[in-house]
Amino acid sequence: MKGSKGRSTISVHAGEHLDKATGAVNTPIYQSSTFFFPTGDRRTWDGEVPDGSFIYTRYGNPTVAAAERKIAELESGKRCLLFATGMAATSTALLTFLRSGDRLVSQEDIYGGSYNLMRYHLTSLGIDVQFAPTADTGAFIEAIVPGTKVVWLESPTNPLLKLVDYPEIIKAAHEQGAMVFIDNTFATPINQRPLEKGADLVMESGTKYLGGHSDLLAGAVITDGLDLEPVARKRIVLGGAMDPLPAFLLERGMKTLALRMRCHNQNGMAIAEYLEDHPRVDGVHYPGLESHPQHSLATRLMSGFGGMLSFEVKGGRREAERAMASMKLVKMATSLGGVESLVSMPLNSSHAALPPEERARLGIRDPLLRLSVGIEDVEDLKEDLDQALRSSA
Ligand code: PLP
Repeated sequence: MKGSKGRSTISVHAGEHLDKATGAVNTPIYQSSTFFFPTGDRRTWDGEVPDGSFIYTRYGNPTVAAAERKIAELESGKRCLLFATGMAATSTALLTFLRSGDRLVSQEDIYGGSYNLMRYHLTSLGIDVQFAPTADTGAFIEAIVPGTKVVWLESPTNPLLKLVDYPEIIKAAHEQGAMVFIDNTFATPINQRPLEKGADLVMESGTKYLGGHSDLLAGAVITDGLDLEPVARKRIVLGGAMDPLPAFLLERGMKTLALRMRCHNQNGMAIAEYLEDHPRVDGVHYPGLESHPQHSLATRLMSGFGGMLSFEVKGGRREAERAMASMKLVKMATSLGGVESLVSMPLNSSHAALPPEERARLGIRDPLLRLSVGIEDVEDLKEDLDQALRSSA
């Protein structure tokens, strides 16, 4: 199906497991930790074996495999591996390819969990971790010195929606013999597909847009040219495999991925424009706005700008807290990418661990709120944001 069908068709149909016994049109939930394995069976312990049979769910499971096939096609890849969480996917991939003495180059602005893993855990294993400026491509490329093994990127970033010129960085990294891994969680394969631009591996937190309903945890890594077998073996050993029930929910949720993303893109743009003109807002960060400093790069890299944005409430921390607490339809909660709109304050959530001077250096000011714009009627969202902002003064 790869290359010949549109993303909506892929979202609905790719990976489907056709149950020969019943003819069920949906992928069954194979809620079994183990599979019949008679004496004398010559199958190897490699997970999914050539005849499509399975041994033990930590190695592979038919419901999980169906979701993996769908994600691989959505990202224009050849193979996907699913994990229990996004962090299990990230840590297993990085621990597969990095050894003591290897150099990893990443960005100053990445998801806090990935930063924590790299800054404190990978360095403790003797891996040389460097963080380069996100939006300064020249300075970033300078950090990719000979001997760099992996470059880890995230675009757009959390919470300021900065972009990375990843096609340029991929070119430079490959010249130095380094691999490029990209966290595509904010954009999703509907809005950008880094494997098509030469990335070696894509990571997705399936907890967010792929699942889309804030009811599961999942992580995925996807490759086109790069051999994923070493990651599959590491997944078996580290044990971050996915359970069949959330895999079913994920595969079912992804059937509406393209449809949902169209609405997230529309609502995200409409809310960004609305907030930009609001008298109680000081600035909006959204790659679809012409005022975004990397808007032209965004139009080159993305086919839609998504549902994530952040904005500063006029005043300070107190006013922003008041606005957030006054929202009724939009719920105060961390996470993102679900059908419902959520608001959070980076100062006391995703970036609470950073010292104030470090937050200031990254441009994360106290009154900044992050909004995950859902698929509700946009006029209802505007009304809720307006009453909340007015009561923040
Ligand atoms: N990457 C990004 C951009 C995220 O926002 C998150 C979670 O918030 C993760 C990775 C980690 O995903 P998970 O919570 O599924 O482990």
